[in-house]
Amino acid sequence: MNQDLEYLVILNDIDLMLDDFDKGSATVEKELGFDMGRKEQIETARNELREKCRKPILKRYDTIRGKYGKVISPVFDGVCYGCFQRLHTELAQDDKNEDILSCPHCGRFLYFMK
Ligand SMILES: [Zn+2]
Repeated sequence: MNQDLEYLVILNDIDLMLDDFDKGSATVEKELGFDMGRKEQIETARNELREKCRKPILKRYDTIRGKYGKVISPVFDGVCYGCFQRLHTELAQDDKNEDILSCPHCGRFLYFMK
């Protein structure tokens, strides 16, 4: 798997987790024993992860995140599950997650499921 893509997948998970904290709906996290001190810890991890990401990719990430919230879109059976559009056959065949690919319809980063 592409290293940058791996960072983006984790970064998006962390950002969505922080969204839950901000909305006060982090019920599951609270049940699991997370608290607001934990939030700061997660923010630190996010900032460290952002440092590792290449700047142009991070810029694209932030643009997509501002638009949709969810940046990574799973692809299953040739369909982007962000926008539910079918991908071009050529794009759908490159399914090893070795490159950072974007959906031509919605722009989200693609993560191919096996
Ligand atoms: Zn899409």
